[in-house]
Order: sequence, then structure tokens, then C-alpha cells
Amino acid sequence: MKIIERVEIEAVTDVKCDVCRRSTRSEIDGLQFATLQAHWGFGTKHDGERYELHLCENCFFGTMLMLSFGRLVIVIVHRGPRMGVGARVAVTRAWAR
Ligand SMILES: [Zn+2]
Repeated sequence: MKIIERVEIEAVTDVKCDVCRRSTRSEIDGLQFATLQAHWGFGTKHDGERYELHLCENCFFGTMLMLSFGRLVIVIVHRGPRMGVGARVAVTRAWAR
């Protein structure tokens, strides 16, 4: 036997970007966002900490750009002394495009 009653439920109606605070709602296809999350485990500096960030499309790709720039800096700092001047110039020019 089914018992049918009216119930009140909570639902996600919007997700705001944690960077720019804008809505991630798309007129065409509902909520459009990226999720950056972490749950640090035993033995890490942040043991037990959880993070979850929601990013709109623009902020997601801006973050990707910053991460790739960070990677470029790491490569230059760690390999730079072993790279020839030509290689360093090529890496810099590739980044500038
Ligand atoms: Zn944003």
C-alpha cells in the first residue's frame, strides 16, 4: 500500500561561483559549474580538512591559466639553470602566445 503525502524537500536552486560570486545558472542548460575539492587524509599537513569550491566557466578557465602559469614558473625555476638560453626564450615565447 502506498501512502502519499505532500512533503517539503530542500533542493539546490543555484550555485554561486566562489571566486566572482556570480550565479552559475545558464539560461539554456541549468547550472554549469566546475568543482574543485579536496579531503586531506592521515599524515598530511591538513589532516581531516575538506574543501569544496564551485567555479563558473570564466573563473574555472582563469584558474586553469593560473595553474599552467604556475607550472611554467616551476619548470623554469627548477630546470632553468640547466636549460640553454634558447630553450628559456622558447618557453617564454610559448607562454606569451
Ligand atoms: Zn566566477
